[in-house]
Amino acid sequence: MDDVDVLVVGAGLAGLHTATLLARRGHEVLLVERRASLDAAIRTTGIFVRRTLDDFPLPAACLGPPIRRVVLYPPTLQRPVTLVSARDEFRVGDMGPLYLAASRTATDAGVRIALGTRYAGRRARNVRLVGRDGPTAVRARFVVGADGARSAVARDLGLDRNRHLLIGAEEVIDVGGAVGPPTFHCVLDPSLAPGYLAWVVNDGRHAHIGVAGYADRFPRGLRRALHRFGATAPGLAGVERPAEPERRGGPIPVGGLLRRISCADGLLVGDAAGAVSPLTAGGLDPCLRLSELAAAVLDDALRSGQPSALRHYDGAVLRARFRGRLMLRRGMAQVRTPAAATAAFALLRTPVGRAAAGRILFGDRSFPTP
Ligand SMILES: Cc1cc2nc3c(=O)[nH]c(=O)nc-3n(C[C@H](O)[C@H](O)[C@H](O)COP(=O)(O)OP(=O)(O)OC[C@H]3O[C@@H](n4cnc5c(N)ncnc54)[C@H](O)[C@@H]3O)c2cc1C
Repeated sequence: MDDVDVLVVGAGLAGLHTATLLARRGHEVLLVERRASLDAAIRTTGIFVRRTLDDFPLPAACLGPPIRRVVLYPPTLQRPVTLVSARDEFRVGDMGPLYLAASRTATDAGVRIALGTRYAGRRARNVRLVGRDGPTAVRARFVVGADGARSAVARDLGLDRNRHLLIGAEEVIDVGGAVGPPTFHCVLDPSLAPGYLAWVVNDGRHAHIGVAGYADRFPRGLRRALHRFGATAPGLAGVERPAEPERRGGPIPVGGLLRRISCADGLLVGDAAGAVSPLTAGGLDPCLRLSELAAAVLDDALRSGQPSALRHYDGAVLRARFRGRLMLRRGMAQVRTPAAATAAFALLRTPVGRAAAGRILFGDRSFPTP
């Protein structure tokens, strides 16, 4: 049986980053991913906020043009509010190449990556995997659950699990050159996106057209909402729509960072840990930041031989700093009808409302630094 220091389950950004940091510190790391290829079945729009771009060395070739302009629309799409930042605020990742680049970085650091390999449960230190050649097993000192919002590792380690989820879907199309400045269009309409937003991000290279909300509140289902939004979505003037665009989607945990995210046998990172801003639903910055803390405590535990070091990886402490955002999420969830959204939108037209929206969209508070 293969023996490793750390088994990381899931090669999203959280798993790739955690595995790389651990391998760089000299530990033997196996990263397993059920998808056969990292540039297939992508689940994210890939909007990176400025703080991430400042703090993490993402390959520039995998990033779209900077976006400074956000346009917020009420359900009628009439009289939108435009906010323009003095700085570059967002860039959309070309996620297929970006995941491939991150996996090369991981391999260069010494991580062994097994694609097409599914985590299938554990008993003590023995972990069952199902790969291309059938079932196999590995002995791991620690297991890292980087396996997304519905983490099986969280379940098996007896840790907290995400219960408060949105579901999102989008279409991605190539845009034949810029028409106007790169812009992030957000539509607040609970009939299209109950509890969240419908969006078009058009940076002149790609346009992402999406909706997200509470799964049980889409009047006629998520797919129909996306179809309906796509028919009238703003920001697509002059854009040719292919018959078969790339489709993405998945669950988004918005209940805030989970409290119990570690035990003596392992820990959770990224969506598995609920590391997503409850308000903006952005999870890329949080997953990178939390991975740094995860790698540091695992390194400590491996070097000292003291699994108790993992106690320092405490979701409850960080969660306390999410209080304001959790309150705003609850407020957003209460906006249930287009009439209520229209009324709430009136606030956005006031100087105070615009300033608050600017702070949320252009602030540096995506995730507290652990
Ligand atoms: C539609 C949508 C749009 C989004 N847009 C943005 C955005 O623009 N900006 C932003 O900041 N955030 C966005 N998010 C959130 C963000 O994408 C996530 O928070 C982030 O990608 C989480 O990364 P992760 O590595 O934790 O999980 P994931 O990227 O979900 O990776 C988990 C991996 O685990 C693998 N896996 C699962 N189970 C197993 C198993 N049993 N065995 C082996 N492998 C397994 C999966 O295949 C997957 O590759 C969006 C989310 C959605 C759904």
